[in-house]
Amino acid sequence: MDAFWMPFTGNRQFKADPRLIVGAEGCCYRDADGREIFDSLSGLWCVSFGHGRTEIADAIARTARELDYAPPFQYAHPLAFELASRVKALTPAGLDHVFFTNSGSESADTALKMARAYWAKRGAPEKTRLIGRAKGYHGVNVGGTGVGGIEANRKGFGDMLTSEHLPHTLLEDNRFSRGIPEHGAELADALEDMIEAHGADTVAAVMVEPMGGSAGVIVPPKGYLNRLRAICDRHDVLLIFDEVLTGFGRTGASFGAELFGVRPDIMTLAKNLTNAAVPMGAVVVSDAIYQTFMNEGGPEYQIEFFHGYTYSAHPLACAAGLAALDIYEREHMVERAAKLAPYFEAQVHGLRGLRHVVDIRNLGLAAAIQIDPVDGEPGRRPWQIAMAAWKRGLYLRFGGDTVQLGPPFITEPAQIDMVCNILEDVIPAVE
Ligand code: PLP
Repeated sequence: MDAFWMPFTGNRQFKADPRLIVGAEGCCYRDADGREIFDSLSGLWCVSFGHGRTEIADAIARTARELDYAPPFQYAHPLAFELASRVKALTPAGLDHVFFTNSGSESADTALKMARAYWAKRGAPEKTRLIGRAKGYHGVNVGGTGVGGIEANRKGFGDMLTSEHLPHTLLEDNRFSRGIPEHGAELADALEDMIEAHGADTVAAVMVEPMGGSAGVIVPPKGYLNRLRAICDRHDVLLIFDEVLTGFGRTGASFGAELFGVRPDIMTLAKNLTNAAVPMGAVVVSDAIYQTFMNEGGPEYQIEFFHGYTYSAHPLACAAGLAALDIYEREHMVERAAKLAPYFEAQVHGLRGLRHVVDIRNLGLAAAIQIDPVDGEPGRRPWQIAMAAWKRGLYLRFGGDTVQLGPPFITEPAQIDMVCNILEDVIPAVE
């Protein structure tokens, strides 16, 4: 087992007590012992339309036989244009141009480089400063790690991309809020202070998740994102929404931008874009940004943006994306998520009062249950809870001092009951 160095995993613990997944269908995994395991996190928030979608598998297989690969630099294949048009049509009006990557992390770093290059093209090369938010997660590449605000992800790696961080919005007053919390919109004003302290002529962009996911479903207070947008407009700073997790329905709306009524200048996507069947990410930008690159691109044969990946717009990823978006639209995935959300909220908040539970937060089909930490070891109890849940046939995510739920949009209410019943047993039982 030692040959495989597992990502974001306690390798020693796993290899002593492996949890092997060998199959998946609908909302469930099958483990190596043949047990059915309910997937309460849609994989990693990414298989939201359900596992084992044969339409996607067939599209991938067809494309693999027809066109295994095409170079995305200076040449292209038709599926890339088709998928970009579909993404453009689905994302909020005004976000019109799609740059493909292979992951959420690559989308984050691409977006940050785009923001800086945009200002350079606009004749303001000193506008390079990037601002993130405490507890933000933008993947694990150098840019996203620096702008991200999760301490553990930065510690021990030396210099990442230097950036400042807005305060997070987890407030004592908002504990056990259902959906969007009431208090804390004014926390956005820290952005104005930072911009004024450094001078707007040095600030390129601010990047936030419209709903913090990995740090434990941190839902922005009412009015907070509108305030960020207004401050960005006042100071000519780009607003980047990382919608890698929220994109395509998770909040009960198509995008966080739509739910909160705030349009960013740049939006990053991944995960549900292909229902996770083939890795793929995307960065969607406003017409103003794209046209700036085109207009300032020099002679026509010249490259406007010196950036891209060998596997950008890979044919198999495009085929998977088109098939996944067919399912997304045909099976009304957003409406399904929105319809199940109130029941999910009620059941999850029913866990309030259990031993160790100090907060419950939710939005759409995302929820986090915050667990009272063992001194100096905030991750211990969530890990114990997840291990006990796995034994009971439930896969969930544990991160920091939370356990997190993000079930597939095709989940039935009875399956939500089953998840909550298991949690009701295992949470108070840990020491
Ligand atoms: N951004 C957000 C908001 C995410 O939730 C994630 C993954 O969880 C990422 C970026 C990183 O995506 P990936 O793991 O595909 O690189």
